[in-house]
Amino acid sequence: MADERAQALQQLAGQVRICLECRLGATRGVAVPGEGPLDAELLWVGEAPGAAEDAAGLPFVGASGRFLRHEMHEAGLDPAAMYITNIVKCRPPGNRRPRVDEIAICTGLYLVRQMALVAPKAVVALGATAAGALLADTVKMTQEHGTWRQDYNLTAQGLPVFITYHPAAALRSERWRAELHADLQALADGRWRMAYG
Ligand code: SF4
Repeated sequence: MADERAQALQQLAGQVRICLECRLGATRGVAVPGEGPLDAELLWVGEAPGAAEDAAGLPFVGASGRFLRHEMHEAGLDPAAMYITNIVKCRPPGNRRPRVDEIAICTGLYLVRQMALVAPKAVVALGATAAGALLADTVKMTQEHGTWRQDYNLTAQGLPVFITYHPAAALRSERWRAELHADLQALADGRWRMAYG
């Protein structure tokens, strides 16, 4: 069973790498499926690959990715135990926000299946775009960071979603950096498992 899931995840990554289902396929460098262990308890979802990820084909390897991993370590979360991906798997030109149709196509093809195959206990939404796509709602990050909601948009069972800042945004603001830091500390204390575990 685990072998079949691992194989299905690998096949999905192969499909992402050659995907041309939305306009982002025409301008990307390397598509970025995501990475992490099959049985990750937490699945982290950012907005889209940036320049470093587009060159490497790996998620969160640029400055914001390094910062995110640092913050995970600080909170006592092991980055190697996390599954990390993005709402869209290809870099939008000039790092613009992914468009509604691009998000709908890419999540419908890939993120929904990744969530089903990894079957995490919870999802961490990094930034308003990721949270908005997961929850099919407008998320005001300064008010909702550090809170939990449930995703009935991409999963039927209502997977718990923890909302926090995208690390690239946190790098631009001392206040948001401190709030992301506190959010990850709260996530790591594990009390959410009493409600959702
Ligand atoms: S963003 Fe997603 S749907 Fe669009 S081309 Fe890339 S992998 Fe395919």
